[in-house]
Amino acid sequence: VSVSVSQQHLAASLEGEAVIVRETPLIDGLPLYGQPEWNARYPWLLQGITGRGTGEPFDLSFFGQARSATVLERWRAIRSATGFRGVVHARQVHGADLLCHDQHTDGVRILDDADGHVTSQKDLLLAVSVADCVPVSLVDKNARVSALLHAGWRSAAAGILERGVQTLVELGSGSAREILCHFGPAICGTCYEVGPEVHAALGLPRPQHNTPIDLRTQLVRRALALGLEPGNISRSAYCTRCDGGLFFSHRAGDRERQMSVLGLRQA
Ligand SMILES: [Zn+2]
Repeated sequence: VSVSVSQQHLAASLEGEAVIVRETPLIDGLPLYGQPEWNARYPWLLQGITGRGTGEPFDLSFFGQARSATVLERWRAIRSATGFRGVVHARQVHGADLLCHDQHTDGVRILDDADGHVTSQKDLLLAVSVADCVPVSLVDKNARVSALLHAGWRSAAAGILERGVQTLVELGSGSAREILCHFGPAICGTCYEVGPEVHAALGLPRPQHNTPIDLRTQLVRRALALGLEPGNISRSAYCTRCDGGLFFSHRAGDRERQMSVLGLRQA
């Protein structure tokens, strides 16, 4: 897999070449929602994202406003409800570095700067925090290797999706055609107006003024350019800002973060 994105392929691929899904609740009593097809079809997989919840905001960020004891308590509830003993998370820096996890851990392990995680370990939940940025779940369904990415525009421009796919190809079945990809709840193309420099950084024509961009559409195009099958790519119908009752949105002024999680179950 080439890390560079073919502009020709980008121009040829169409918008909306991805299955649009709406996350559904995974567990009673917890604001945790999943890509419905994946969770139904692959019992060895857990894919999800937390939401705002009812009552006190269900903030899972270790780097935000919530008390660490409260955050850990919420994580304990997620681990207990999902059956995953270990969680890995890192401080996110809007880069393109990935951490490969080849060891198990008990409890929640917080690592240094990285915006993506890769593992073939069972019983280990990968976690990235988001509130408008795109959570990207990648799974090699044959080799059972998973990667979870935090893709804001800076990470997307820095090539985090290309790195994630390349790493899965290397560690997994050797082909991008085996990779499932889901772009979770994130800010939509209507709500996300950005400066000309963002368009330019993503390899798009530089507009004169601030112009909306649909980051997930750009990522879908990149995924197709990397050789993923259109039928293996899905995107969430949810916008973190339009659907602010369900999810936190940085642009809407929320300081809290939801967590996208991805894990491979034991056998
Ligand atoms: Zn929106």
